[in-house]
Amino acid sequence: MRMSIGRRGVLRLGAAALAASAPAMSWATAEAPARARLPLGPMPDSPMATAPAPVASTPVAPLSGAPVRKALLHNLHTGETFNEVYFENGRYVPQALTEAMKVLRDWRNGEEHFMDPRLFDALHGISDRLETNRPFQIISGYRSPRTNAMLHARSGEVASKSQHTLGKACDVRIEGVDLRNLHKAALGMGAGGVGLYPVSNFVHVDVGAVRHWMGA
Ligand SMILES: [Zn+2]
Repeated sequence: MRMSIGRRGVLRLGAAALAASAPAMSWATAEAPARARLPLGPMPDSPMATAPAPVASTPVAPLSGAPVRKALLHNLHTGETFNEVYFENGRYVPQALTEAMKVLRDWRNGEEHFMDPRLFDALHGISDRLETNRPFQIISGYRSPRTNAMLHARSGEVASKSQHTLGKACDVRIEGVDLRNLHKAALGMGAGGVGLYPVSNFVHVDVGAVRHWMGA
């Protein structure tokens, strides 16, 4: 059984997103609403997320085949941006990954953590699918265990073992791009976890096991 969803699933999720308005919510509270999680799909960032993918045929091929890959990131909390080639000449560029790591650091306490470069491949692929060169606005990148524990205590939507704490996830939106289209592009990548948060107005993207869910 494949965990990734087909076109019909995408359409269903798209319809669900359509049903929900997406007012701009303070990003400070994004992914930490007081309400309980919705029973749609698997749990976000659940401990299962770090378990081996249950599907033996889960592809492990590179997430992007582009010979030169650039990432455009804009951290909404710090105002910092990243706009560099992170992959060229057949390899990831360490200096660029270090810079990206800084921009995606835990803004609450400044802690940095290596970010899985495949996450940038996933974002690169999403940009390609959307045919946009606008930056990803970062609502959340790396989360230190301390920050994640605080958010987890506040909200059932934040898992105790989040992919954010592994440097494998980010919550994003793109100015001028409909969230539903961003969501579809992320699902189409099949790169890992994808969570749609229509009220908070962002899409969670990670490179853990392939799964999907609807948040708030
Ligand atoms: Zn997230």
